[in-house]
Amino acid sequence: EAKRDAGTSYRFYNRQLHISAGHQIKLEGDLRNALRGNELELYYQPRIDLVTGEVRGVECLIRWNHPTRGLVMPDEFIPAAERSGLIVPIGYWVIEQACERLRESADLGFPGLVFAVNLSFRQFHDRKMTETIFRIIFNANVDTSLLELELTESAMMHDPDYAQRCLRELSQLGISFALDDFGTGYSSLTNLQHLPISLVKIDKSFVQALGQSGDSEHIIRAIISLAHSLQMSVVAEGAETEGQLDFLREQHCDEVQGFYYARPMPWSDLITFLHDRNRLACLPE
Ligand code: C2E
Ligand code: MG
Ligand code: MG
Ligand code: MG
Repeated sequence: EAKRDAGTSYRFYNRQLHISAGHQIKLEGDLRNALRGNELELYYQPRIDLVTGEVRGVECLIRWNHPTRGLVMPDEFIPAAERSGLIVPIGYWVIEQACERLRESADLGFPGLVFAVNLSFRQFHDRKMTETIFRIIFNANVDTSLLELELTESAMMHDPDYAQRCLRELSQLGISFALDDFGTGYSSLTNLQHLPISLVKIDKSFVQALGQSGDSEHIIRAIISLAHSLQMSVVAEGAETEGQLDFLREQHCDEVQGFYYARPMPWSDLITFLHDRNRLACLPE
């Protein structure tokens, strides 16, 4: 009986593999065209200071305006871009675009805004990374102290010596580093304390579990106090409710990034958002 089943499931398995390989190849081809054909776009999600309410910076988040599928989210194509290596040129395009916007933001009257960009594991391990980033920021002529690169623990723990070398080189240029999705990996902040990391981003799963699981409160509290004792700032991701904000503020979390304040939005919407917040801030109490 097992043998008979094995025959049919083999054929089925084979067909599945065939479909997914074909799908993967198509996706990669489409992505390559997307990069050439200007179908990629950055959205910007504000990061708000929990004490002053000011917008301190934005995270640049990639979107794909697909000709037939419409707006495609990064979770649907970043994995394919990583598997194919396309994430390397895509990632450099993201940094270039972010630098361009960084300059524009100062011209539009919003100097001092931090621009955070995600770096994938694969991109981080590109041997030309530091020299390419150096060339991009040199050509863009931006204030590098406003450029922040977000990395996950796994990207750094894979080869700690390499990570240390890269982070040191880039931080000498003025670039700062944030630890993204913190709490979901296996490393601890003390393992990473010799790296030039100035900010920790608490993964949204902890923020969203607030009030539902007692553990998330303890975890968030512990991350904040440890980060602060290591002179790192803390951003909480994924804050959607007033209750979550209150808790984060009580725990002296520095900034939040979440739908409560704003969703990721196109550049022109961000400019409107910034103007509106400035106007509100100028109104008498
Ligand atoms: P991430 O770097 O952790 O970015 C934060 C994600 O959380 C964003 O999803 C954002 O929209 C979402 N988020 C923020 N606040 C809330 C909230 O209040 N509620 C909920 N439900 N979600 C919230 P997005 O834009 O879909 O990006 C997903 C992931 O894709 C990013 O996670 C990042 O890992 C990756 N990604 C995005 N852009 C890039 C890029 O340019 N390069 C690379 N390598 N990865 C990118
Ligand atoms: Mg990020
Ligand atoms: Mg994150
Ligand atoms: Mg994430």
